[in-house]
Amino acid sequence: MSVEITIRPHVCGGCPHCEAAAPEVFKVRGVVTIDGRFALSSTRGRVPLDMADAVIRAFKACPRGGISVRVVPPWLVK
Ligand code: SF4
Repeated sequence: MSVEITIRPHVCGGCPHCEAAAPEVFKVRGVVTIDGRFALSSTRGRVPLDMADAVIRAFKACPRGGISVRVVPPWLVK
């Protein structure tokens, strides 16, 4: 299984909280992006399930609800 992350750019304020909580996944350089290793696009990415704790830390740290997260079962991974 993996964890899919989507950043909602229309609500993201570019603050550093998600990167502070999970620097291995999120990069904030004016706007937030998902680390290139995990990126499907600049606003969507997929990380292994063992990184879920880091993603949830960032999700909880975001003051604007800019991050959405869902678990993707293996049969849906392309
Ligand atoms: S914590 Fe939320 S608002 Fe701040 S940069 Fe990350 S996604 Fe955007």
